[in-house]
Amino acid sequence: MIDFETAVSEVLRLTYMLPTHAVHLANSRGYVLAEDIIARESIPLFDSTSVDGYAVRADDIITALSSSPVHLMVQGAVQAGDSRVLHLKRNHAIKIFTGAQLPLDADAVVMKEYVSEENGKAAFHEPIRMGENVRKRGAEFSNGAIVFSAGTLITPPVMGMLSVLGYPKVQVYRKPKVALVITGNELRPPGSRLKRGQIRDVNSLSLTSMLRMLAIEPTLVVSVRDLKSAVSSAIRAALKKSDVVISTGGVSVGEYDFVRDVFAELRVKTIFWRIALKPGKPNYFGIKGRKLVFGLPGNPVSALVSFELLVRPALLKLQGLKTENQVSFRARLTRDLRKKAGRLEFIRAVFTKNSGSELLVTPTPGQDSHIMSSLARANCLMLFPKDAEFLPKGSVVEIHVLPWQQW
Ligand code: AMP
Ligand code: MG
Repeated sequence: MIDFETAVSEVLRLTYMLPTHAVHLANSRGYVLAEDIIARESIPLFDSTSVDGYAVRADDIITALSSSPVHLMVQGAVQAGDSRVLHLKRNHAIKIFTGAQLPLDADAVVMKEYVSEENGKAAFHEPIRMGENVRKRGAEFSNGAIVFSAGTLITPPVMGMLSVLGYPKVQVYRKPKVALVITGNELRPPGSRLKRGQIRDVNSLSLTSMLRMLAIEPTLVVSVRDLKSAVSSAIRAALKKSDVVISTGGVSVGEYDFVRDVFAELRVKTIFWRIALKPGKPNYFGIKGRKLVFGLPGNPVSALVSFELLVRPALLKLQGLKTENQVSFRARLTRDLRKKAGRLEFIRAVFTKNSGSELLVTPTPGQDSHIMSSLARANCLMLFPKDAEFLPKGSVVEIHVLPWQQW
């Protein structure tokens, strides 16, 4: 049995980044950049106004007072998208609308709210600083600047920035092809009527939706009976079609647990099989060439938690993500907790803020590995260290925020 930390670092050590390809900007969300993104022009591209108002030379209204306003002739108007470049005459103002190009020789924009216009003349009641309400060309990036480096996740605002920069396509890491093999004689598809002894399959949908959260569509989801031949042909097909094979169930020591035998026969190299972890003790990881093979436990809670803790980091690294993206906090436990020493436990829990903005964490009811509702109600996993047996109420513990609460 290996420690959880060793298991994670072994998985990541053996996870390679996938090859890269180009995607259209419109489809790029959720991919990771495989190239540095350079500004190929100044950002912003031209001086413009950030308000509706009057473009002026600050110098022309330097003497303006509310008791003696300065009057300037309104020379014209310029709208966002106008391609004409107006030239501001001395002692004149140009009416201007948010986003419009700043006229030549104008150096500030007075907000409309502060100006009264009558008979083609605008009255200014106070001076303005040069540059006020002006978005300067190149203020954000000059031509040639590195805006994002390779390894950046394309989020909606990153996509927005790529739109600003005029990239029609970007080079990204390929998404992994992932196959799911769900084992168990007792399993029937979700929504089915059950005969005695049967249960509904949870893992197909919970793991598929975990993959979809990472913008990965599984290449294969197959449910098989606990027959060695059936498990073998499913896993063989899965290996052929994918970069990552994930099985659930049949990986423990029961007489019908064929998954490890099948992995061995298909020449998957075992890296580890059991982890000092709860939930998720029977947890297989192996490699075949560069393909990753995860044999997750069948219990739906263990399968989903193991996916979150071991598989998701690997899927993120395969897709080129360089930085750790796990959100962790420290929180104060609201009640006593006990366990046996020997395994690191991830307790399903809810964290909240108290009135002093301190984080509090409370386990959800029912921590046995088959109790799905306690995971469904949780927003975090609380770490109960391996060798600890007792955590008194008020202890400060680490919490691992679950990703599916943030959408
Ligand atoms: P196993 O790891 O195959 O020994 O399964 C452990 C427990 O999880 C058993 O009670 C199984 O019935 C249950 N189980 C396994 N796979 C699934 C699944 N896909 N959906 C729901 N329960 C499952
Ligand atoms: Mg089973």
